[in-house]
Amino acid sequence: MWNKCISCNATWSDGQFTPGCQECGGYALSRPCPICSGRCQAVWNRDTYMSNKMKSPFWNGDCRLPEPEKQTYLVRTFVENTEDALVDAMNDLCGS
Ligand SMILES: [Zn+2]
Ligand SMILES: [Zn+2]
Repeated sequence: MWNKCISCNATWSDGQFTPGCQECGGYALSRPCPICSGRCQAVWNRDTYMSNKMKSPFWNGDCRLPEPEKQTYLVRTFVENTEDALVDAMNDLCGS
């Protein structure tokens, strides 16, 4: 019962997802490493319970790049996520 998106009803276990859906995050049950956009060839698996609960994609996995290289990606990812959070906050303000 946890293998589907509560927001858009896509069945992740069948490989379905909805582009643009916040909870799907653009993938079904697995995705390339989000830290380095798949450069390390690692595949991360969705934490379906947390995804459903938080209404946003949660992934379990680890980047296989060497630590120093990984750190630069992590910093970049963090900045991008912060910008997303700001945009969300702005949308919330405008919507209310
Ligand atoms: Zn969805
Ligand atoms: Zn990686």
